[in-house]
Amino acid sequence: MPNIRSGFIDTIGNTPLIRLKKASELTGCEILAKAEFLNPGGSVKDRAALAIVQDAEERGLLKPGGVIVEGTAGNTGIGLALVGNALGYRTVIVMPETQSQEKKDMLRLCGADLRLVPALPYANPGNYVRYSEALAKEMAATEPNGVLWANQFDNQANRTGHYRTTGPEIWDQTGGRIDGFTCAVGTGGTLAGIGMALKERNRDIVVALSDPMGSALYNFYAGGELKSEGNSITEGIGQGRITGNLDGAPIDNQFRVTDEEALPMIFDLLKEEGLCVGGSSGINVMGAVKLARDLGPGHTVVTILCDFGTRYQSKLFNPVFLKERSLPIPDWLV
Ligand code: PMP
Repeated sequence: MPNIRSGFIDTIGNTPLIRLKKASELTGCEILAKAEFLNPGGSVKDRAALAIVQDAEERGLLKPGGVIVEGTAGNTGIGLALVGNALGYRTVIVMPETQSQEKKDMLRLCGADLRLVPALPYANPGNYVRYSEALAKEMAATEPNGVLWANQFDNQANRTGHYRTTGPEIWDQTGGRIDGFTCAVGTGGTLAGIGMALKERNRDIVVALSDPMGSALYNFYAGGELKSEGNSITEGIGQGRITGNLDGAPIDNQFRVTDEEALPMIFDLLKEEGLCVGGSSGINVMGAVKLARDLGPGHTVVTILCDFGTRYQSKLFNPVFLKERSLPIPDWLV
């Protein structure tokens, strides 16, 4: 039968590209957003999860009944848990306890073995990424079917997934009429993979980083120094080092975006355009506005809507949480 997907795996990717009305009007450009929140696990990270698991299978690192271990802000864990369920692997997910309750609940309901750890810098061995690596090593000694440490930050199967799918999809959906691409970085897989795919087709396309406060990348790409200032309530983005996925990424320009700029974007997207997305999508859309202003009217800029806003209801759409931090509040929730 021609119009049937073969299962969960087959529903990852091929997401719509949506014209954002207000951002386009504000800039005189076409601002288009890839609706990654419409992936079956609810985020852009379904693609990375699938790419990493398929790569491991091809390299013989995962056997039926094996275990996938990963450190994640949540979305990669959700993607891995669902891919694991569909393909017959168990998942053990290590996550900083500061991440949203909604993502923790989702991981537990997917059947992942969730281990919450204190939020510590990468240099500390207790950091969630390093904890997950050590846990994977320890488990490998006793797991009969083997253990895969997904290692999304440095495993380039992540960016290769975007290079092979998301980037070409954007090129095809715009018919090659694209002048700029921007998004924020967690692992860097999305920005690097899409950036490489687009540059290969037209090297004049401007690839730009949109960086939240608290991340060290803006200063690195602007002036060569990994240095961070301020902080952000957004989750899943911001980075303090050049990950394996960022290494060699074709980045032409960089913009810094504050929570005060990003939050009104997601509130307007929801109330005026019907798009319910999370905080990193707000950083991305505001970054796209900055890139469009830099390019000037008449250009086409593409960005990513990373995940659903419901994943952060208790934070981004909670007037008490926002008020305590003197952040903008959606007027219909006051
Ligand atoms: N937005 C959200 C909500 C995420 O969870 C992530 C992944 N951590 C990103 C953006 C960034 O994607 P990437 O890891 O590909 O840089």
